[in-house]
Amino acid sequence: MDLQKRDETLFINGEWVRGSGELILTPIDPTTGDALGRLETASADQVEGAAQASARAFADWKVTASSERAAYLRGFAKGLATRQERLVDVQMRNNGKPRVEAEIDVGDAIATFKYYAGLADTLDACQDARVDHAGGDHIGMVRREPVGPVGMIVPWNFPLVTSAWKIAPALAAGCTAVMKTSEMTPLAELVYGEIAQEIGLPPGVLNIVTGAMEVGVALTGSRAFRKISFTGSNMVGAKVMAAIAPRCLPLSLELGGKAPIIVTEDVDINHAVDCIIGGIFFNAGQMCSASSRLLVHGSIEAKLIEALLAKTETLVTASPFAETCDMGPMTARAQYIKVREYLARAQADGLDCVTGGISKETIGNFVVPTIYRNVPHDNPVWIEEIFGPVLATTRFETDEEALALANATEYGLVGTVVSADEARAKTLANGIEAGQIWINTPQVVYPDSAWGGFKCSGIGRELGPWGLAGYQGVKHITCAC
Ligand code: NAD
Repeated sequence: MDLQKRDETLFINGEWVRGSGELILTPIDPTTGDALGRLETASADQVEGAAQASARAFADWKVTASSERAAYLRGFAKGLATRQERLVDVQMRNNGKPRVEAEIDVGDAIATFKYYAGLADTLDACQDARVDHAGGDHIGMVRREPVGPVGMIVPWNFPLVTSAWKIAPALAAGCTAVMKTSEMTPLAELVYGEIAQEIGLPPGVLNIVTGAMEVGVALTGSRAFRKISFTGSNMVGAKVMAAIAPRCLPLSLELGGKAPIIVTEDVDINHAVDCIIGGIFFNAGQMCSASSRLLVHGSIEAKLIEALLAKTETLVTASPFAETCDMGPMTARAQYIKVREYLARAQADGLDCVTGGISKETIGNFVVPTIYRNVPHDNPVWIEEIFGPVLATTRFETDEEALALANATEYGLVGTVVSADEARAKTLANGIEAGQIWINTPQVVYPDSAWGGFKCSGIGRELGPWGLAGYQGVKHITCAC
């Protein structure tokens, strides 16, 4: 299958152009280590050209009827659907995702565009909402206006989805954008340029640039943007923040996590096991939302670990193209090496590895599902975001203790509670300091959910009306009329 449709890999001002940056990207198939293509990247001048194009396009796009913007968003949803098979294939090859997971990603991206098309449909009709000011002779009117051209930077773990979560609400709000794709997985998102051209999106409304850190730096350095939207690691998020701080530019950050999953003593063990496995081994654990810390009530700990172990050991780690594959390889070699360093450290620290752990280095980036039991709370495996299929467990005796342990982290992206007692589950959910909590379910995210972190997991929210609001400024008009 033709993964890279063209030599031009930058979509700027409605046209495909060749990159003149020094770096050439060679995206890798993580199963085999083979290169999937050769992609030129943007130079700093080209990034600035894209930023200027988005600034020019903003003048017309912001006053385009919101129902018309909605029609373009539906065009994106349709364009993704017609390319479903190619997009599934790209993600299986470049991300190492099992087919079912690659299909879920395409479905999520489509659902996101459809959802924001729905919100855009009603946007104009909601403008100038009247406010009757108490005790005065004035009438107030509230408008929500697009913030302007936005610079967007995304990671590699859910390439189609993290970008859809930014592009769809931004375009719905009336913003224009330049999106920088991840250097690890630059292939999938080129599709957004293809679709933009196909549906006749006005030039400059959406621009796509490929590249690595240098392109991100050029993007955050452009004066054309009125907002930067970043998804990625805390380390790079801090750099992005610092880069735009002198201009006090608005910023949204979707960062890392070290999420807890709390299991109380009254649960159906098999259901709890499904929730745990879904939370840590989906996408080979390469999720900001990975439930990487299991907190289980002491009275069922042995029974739960036994059942978890039995189910985990049935999971097949293999090529996404194998007849059976529950978990593929790590997407990036650097990530594979990083995870292996954690496994080696865990072995050196004498952690109780009940399954998986360090094994012989492989050509493909394969790490088997790994579980460490009763991990000391000062060990890196308990504290740090590993971003791989590695679960750390501990036990608790009281719910207060469970919450104290769950919240003893700098992160606050998500959390999960598994409990047969609804009231108790809600109390625990309310007590976890995080932006998204699941009760009695493996992780599921709807387009109208809120997505974003408390504490060091980020600033702002994506998805739902909050995602749209992130690209809008509130204007209040006070009128003596
Ligand atoms: P990363 O921070 O290394 O890279 C993210 C993006 O930033 C890439 O496109 C990269 O090229 C770019 N970049 C690198 N240096 C830059 C700089 N100095 N200025 C501007 N841009 C720069 O992250 P990653 O390894 O691609 O992704 C994994 C991380 O992303 C994990 O920490 C994960 O938790 C996080 N993540 C968060 C969410 C969320 O919704 N909260 C979703 C997915 C991933």
